[in-house]
Amino acid sequence: MMEQYIDNIDFSRKSKEIRDIIRLSDFKRFQDFCLNLEDSIAFVLRGFENKHRELCLELIVEGKLELICQRCTEKLEHRIFLKSEFLIKEETHLTDFDIDDHADYDLIEGNVKMHVVSFIEDEIILSLPSAPKHENVKCHYIKTDEVLDRIHPFADLKQKLYKN
Ligand SMILES: [Zn+2]
Repeated sequence: MMEQYIDNIDFSRKSKEIRDIIRLSDFKRFQDFCLNLEDSIAFVLRGFENKHRELCLELIVEGKLELICQRCTEKLEHRIFLKSEFLIKEETHLTDFDIDDHADYDLIEGNVKMHVVSFIEDEIILSLPSAPKHENVKCHYIKTDEVLDRIHPFADLKQKLYKN
């Protein structure tokens, strides 16, 4: 079983790393929008120092979720591949803060008891579309004849024009 909590400053300073998988059912909030909680996601959480010797974390998450299409309410498979870098704020000298060097980072608080699963959960939820939808051709709603007629009202116009 992986560590539940990390001291993120120590984790970064010592270049520690966790590679593991988490079942979707272990995330607290996924039952609200995921159809299948049996799947798992894989992640790598890695501590490192950047070139300014500031303490950072890198998180990579990969997996898939079964969301609900907001147009047809059928299952929508959503692939996840996240790669994020975080700067631990406590260790940053803001006077030296150069926006170009830090634009790629999200700031996080130094935390002696950072909850790993919640941290990953937050990142996944932030990455999700607010209204997930199938691509048009794959959506079940759009496949009904009524909707197709509405989209192509002139589809048979040519035929009608030349009939008489
Ligand atoms: Zn759909």
